[in-house]
Amino acid sequence: MMSSKINNLLFIVFYSLLSTLTFADNTVMLENNQARYANFTLSYFEDTSTNPLTFNEVPSQTFKEINNAFAFGYNKNNFWFHIEVLNDSQQPKKMFLELTEIIHKNVDLYIVSDYDDDLIEKNGLSVLIKERSVKVSNPSFALEFAGNEKKDIYIKLSSLYGVFGSFVLKTPEAFHADNRFNNQLYMFYFGAILMIGLYNLFIFLYLREKVYLYYVSYVFIFALWIANYKGVLLPYTSMAIYDLFQIAIPMFFTMLALFSQTVLETKKYFPSFHKILNLFIGILIISVVWMLVDMHTGFYGMNIVVAPFLPFLLFVAAWALYKKHKIARIYLLALTVYLFSMILLSQLYLGLVSYSIFTSTAPIIGSFFEIVLLSLLLAYRISKLRKEKERSQEKLLAQKASESIRLTQMVEDKTIELLKLNDTLSIELEEKERLQQTLMTEARTDDLTGALNRRAFFEMSMKELETSKRYKHPLTFLIIDIDFFKAINDTHGHLNGDIVLIDMVNVIKGTIRNTDVFGRIGGEEFAVLMPETNLDDAAHLAERIRSNVFENISLLDEEQVSITVSIGLSLLREEDNMIQTLLRRADLALFKAKENGRNQVCIEEDVAA
Ligand code: GH3
Ligand code: MG
Ligand code: MG
Repeated sequence: MMSSKINNLLFIVFYSLLSTLTFADNTVMLENNQARYANFTLSYFEDTSTNPLTFNEVPSQTFKEINNAFAFGYNKNNFWFHIEVLNDSQQPKKMFLELTEIIHKNVDLYIVSDYDDDLIEKNGLSVLIKERSVKVSNPSFALEFAGNEKKDIYIKLSSLYGVFGSFVLKTPEAFHADNRFNNQLYMFYFGAILMIGLYNLFIFLYLREKVYLYYVSYVFIFALWIANYKGVLLPYTSMAIYDLFQIAIPMFFTMLALFSQTVLETKKYFPSFHKILNLFIGILIISVVWMLVDMHTGFYGMNIVVAPFLPFLLFVAAWALYKKHKIARIYLLALTVYLFSMILLSQLYLGLVSYSIFTSTAPIIGSFFEIVLLSLLLAYRISKLRKEKERSQEKLLAQKASESIRLTQMVEDKTIELLKLNDTLSIELEEKERLQQTLMTEARTDDLTGALNRRAFFEMSMKELETSKRYKHPLTFLIIDIDFFKAINDTHGHLNGDIVLIDMVNVIKGTIRNTDVFGRIGGEEFAVLMPETNLDDAAHLAERIRSNVFENISLLDEEQVSITVSIGLSLLREEDNMIQTLLRRADLALFKAKENGRNQVCIEEDVAA
């Protein structure tokens, strides 16, 4: 079983090679021990007349001999093939005649025999498989040979896409074995493609990255086209659907272009190539529409577009590799394999290469390797992207670290700056407070002598008055007036008068206690408020002031002039609420002192009495 499969494979691989190397006799001789006949000569005639010839007119035409493999390119003419087969034995034989390609619209079999020379059987895309006598995709005919019978076989081919293929004669066993093998091959191919496609579809659903969608679309559309091209879908479809599926070609090329743009990052690195690829995508999409409108011309036009498209893609990949793009190497390999097979197929359609099972199967083999390689590329791309991400993350971390160092430095600098500013501010603040203090003291003191001024004196005195009243403590008040001060000014000058005033303050301050309130309440008038001081003590102190002034203050001109003061004294009474009352009574006492001759202390009348 296994060995027969291998034999089949070997056959598929080699028989086409052999067929290109050897020319056999014109008549195919059916031997007893041969299962397949592909290596024979046949002849053909191309009907170029405007009215296609009928079968009766054909045998008399001039036929050209060719090897059993043909590729005539796009051609709508009828091609007539002539094959002579002789059963070289006495035994009757059953053989299958198979055309290796499904693409032809009409494959009509005619057999010239003594009994009947009419059309025997129709095949090709125009005949549904279920209506064929041999129900397989490749047009096949079952032929019965009597002992020593020779058949003159004519086959008329016409196609929308191209005329190429070869004929094979097979024994029923070989025919069925080959079909089984082909089915298994397709099952493997489409199974593998399906798995790869699904796998990448899941990745797309998970990652939502467009590149996977392009790839999956490419793979599935391509596989659909291969299935169609090789007739795998034919048992389930018709010629109309076979025709329609040709639009898969520009569609999967569009997906391939989008995929390539993404993996090679053409937009970022090769913008001009990117634009050209966009142009190709545009043309491919136009050819889809064109093919929907008119399949035959659209298909032809699309082939012309694809011819430069794939080499250009190859060029872009090579350029990307030259520019050291990381993905380019695998991509280039995948594309080269694929391109080679697709160009071969395109050439086959155009009739530029000779037909063999290789050129015909090339897209299957090529695309399989390409699809696997591209899937590998996507996996490789993930690891590349991850590494790139890691690298950029590391870079970011390093950047963050240096940034935080920079920030810390900045914060330190700013802190130092702020501290300095704070120092300056507190110095300024102190300065300001001092200034305010000074201003306040200035507002409270007399410029000349430094004693409390009248307003400040009254303010402070008022507080003492309240305290004394509350605790019923004694409180006494002195008013001190310099005698004949006007005269002093007049005689000795205002400046000397000022000196006397300053001396006066010093003498009085040196005489009174700390708790006493002292101020200059007029030009040459001073006042002293003495808390906790009774009349006797106050009188005593007043007397000391008077004598101290007399003894210590004098003007030293040509003759010594002594300065004297008169002092009035008053005592707080229960009914007193204001300092002014005390002042008035002290003033009255002062007046008395002046009247009595000055340089003396006088106590207010009621108390004194
Ligand atoms: P009495 O003994 O009756 O008090 O006579 P008196 O001259 O002292 O009295 P009067 O009130 O007439 O004169 C006060 C003088 O004090 C008038 C003024 O020129 C002088 N005086 C007031 N303030 C100042 C001052 O700040 N400096 C000087 N040098 N003189 C002043
Ligand atoms: Mg006076
Ligand atoms: Mg005076």
